[in-house]
Amino acid sequence: MKVLKFGGTSVGSIESLKNVKKVVESVGEPLVVVVSALGGVTDKLLEMARTAASKDKTYQQALAAVKARHYEMLTTLIPQRQQASLTAKIDSLFEELSSLLDGVYLLRDLSEKTENAIVSYGERLSSNIVANYIEGAVRYNSLAFFKTFKDGHRNVVDNALTEKLILEAFKDFPAKDRIVVVPGFISADRESGEITNLGRGGSDYTASIIAATLNAECLEIWTDVDGFMTADPRIIQNSYVIDSLSYEEAMELCNFGAKVIYTPTLYPVYAKNIPIYIKNTFKPEAQGTVIKKECDHKGRAITGISSIGGTSLITLSGPTMVGVVGVNSLIFSALAKHHISVFFVSQASSEVSISIGVKNEDAALACEVLSKVFAKEIAVGALAPLKLESNLATVAIVGENMRKATGIAGKLFTTLGRNGISIIACAQGASETNISFVVKEEFMRKSLNVIHDSFFLSEYKELNLFLCGIGTVGGQLLHQIASQSEKLKKERGLKLNVVGIARSTKAIFDREGIDLHADIRKKIAEEGIAIDIQELKRQVIGMNIFNSVFVDCTASAEVASIYEELFNHGISVVTANKIAASSEYETYARLKTTARRKGVKFLFETNSTSFSTPLPPTRPSARPFARPRSRAIPSPIPVSTCPARMSSVNW
Ligand code: ADP
Ligand code: ASP
Ligand code: MG
Repeated sequence: MKVLKFGGTSVGSIESLKNVKKVVESVGEPLVVVVSALGGVTDKLLEMARTAASKDKTYQQALAAVKARHYEMLTTLIPQRQQASLTAKIDSLFEELSSLLDGVYLLRDLSEKTENAIVSYGERLSSNIVANYIEGAVRYNSLAFFKTFKDGHRNVVDNALTEKLILEAFKDFPAKDRIVVVPGFISADRESGEITNLGRGGSDYTASIIAATLNAECLEIWTDVDGFMTADPRIIQNSYVIDSLSYEEAMELCNFGAKVIYTPTLYPVYAKNIPIYIKNTFKPEAQGTVIKKECDHKGRAITGISSIGGTSLITLSGPTMVGVVGVNSLIFSALAKHHISVFFVSQASSEVSISIGVKNEDAALACEVLSKVFAKEIAVGALAPLKLESNLATVAIVGENMRKATGIAGKLFTTLGRNGISIIACAQGASETNISFVVKEEFMRKSLNVIHDSFFLSEYKELNLFLCGIGTVGGQLLHQIASQSEKLKKERGLKLNVVGIARSTKAIFDREGIDLHADIRKKIAEEGIAIDIQELKRQVIGMNIFNSVFVDCTASAEVASIYEELFNHGISVVTANKIAASSEYETYARLKTTARRKGVKFLFETNSTSFSTPLPPTRPSARPFARPRSRAIPSPIPVSTCPARMSSVNW
């Protein structure tokens, strides 16, 4: 017997529901099908509730749209003979929902209890439709057997009671009821009977508890991606499916933001050693991922990367921390008392300071609590006032093989450093299966990209180019990149992404890569943003993109003047502009040193030997060293094609 869970996108449209039916039929009976609300409906319900509470009547239009979506699904998919009874059920659910929202609107009051009731309609509606759509299916009501109790602010599942009630509810399964459809996410308080829920993403958890209680053969999570991927596919386009993961690895990755599974889901099935399969509803033939006890990592150093934004770091420091027993206990018990979860801790062995990571929304309360606990020590200067840094991100690399391998941390931090990413705090658990670090939130995407690029053998290496100047040289370069990009990818394993193109007063930027087959000059004229040199620098640095190369095809001193700052932000420079390398020796030397110190390239071969007319002599000492040709970044344009004169100073 299997338990299958279908997420919001899988039950979100008429077409996707047809896929669900096919999957269910191919898996065969007996099975339990757990469903989420139609994709996006949970968010919509929460939004409607808040809109109504703010005395804004537009919640009524939003409700009408949600209604229309459900009725369209019903009339399209459900056989005529079942439609009347199902319509009556859906009508009554929408009537209740509408009255609740009207109540919130009139009273301008949205209690947690009312919000929980409102948000429950998503799964209550979807499960009724799915149970009617799948032939032979029976709907069981999870509100009757998922019971929670209050622990501080949270509703926690009463495991013993829930298991007992599931066993009672499923007494006819599989003997009589062969396919059971259950609404995920929703539950009820064990004492008051009020509607509660298992937290956002909680349908996965519903399915896991049922699978563990009924000793299912496996739990299948059907979603909209091909499996558990090496990193969040919305951020890393090159991420790919991991064939198998251990429960521990999955826990570490999910804890740090891999949304594909809701973290608590892993525990019930882990305890029973039931494997989890992650599969794509829209591509059922794809192999997917299996999460189980032991798996083959095929020698990979790390298994996956994940990240969460909205991190705050609170640092306590001061001489009294050294060697004093119990400081940590005071910190953690005070935070636990206020139900503040700490997901990151970093303490140096000198014990002079400790940094803890909490969610942004918990930060103010955490600081208040800790300031009270250590008020005396802070007052006499034995502890410094708490330091709070917000809007950070936590990134984690995870893998069982990290236990055996050396040099992973070295590689990680070198990669980040080379790309100009500064690490605010880091931690490695003694299990050695996770290294986490905290960076500014604006560096999260870049961190994920550079780590993925460095640790996972993707088919190719990516370079992100900013091109400045599209005169003869720049134009020719663009032409060559456009015509040779496929060849470079295949033969050199190099993917060139042109992410920015600038002319003297206008520029276009696109982090996904600009289509070079379009008429670039026209595109810049029509869609470009106005720039001057300061704005150009701000944009290039602000994009904060990994493996960045700034290509200067101008003859402008202004453009050359920004190189040093680009180096300082981890951006390489390839230049056909002779100004920087033939200027004062001190300038040239400083640029070379900065580039070396920052681990980026400063390549200028194309601006020295390529001119057919002799250049005015520069100081002989300006280029005293032989400059080796770089292999990493191909010279942008064959030397012979360089024009006798560069484009005018007006780039
Ligand atoms: P469902 O509605 O099916 O529960 P979710 O949106 O909750 O789906 O989870 C699936 C999404 O998780 C994917 O569409 C993907 O964008 C995101 N995701 C984040 N990290 C990962 C990862 N490491 N592997 C796969 N998907 C991930
Ligand atoms: N519908 C709920 C949510 O969007 C639960 C789930 O989809 O797992 O969070
Ligand atoms: Mg989900």
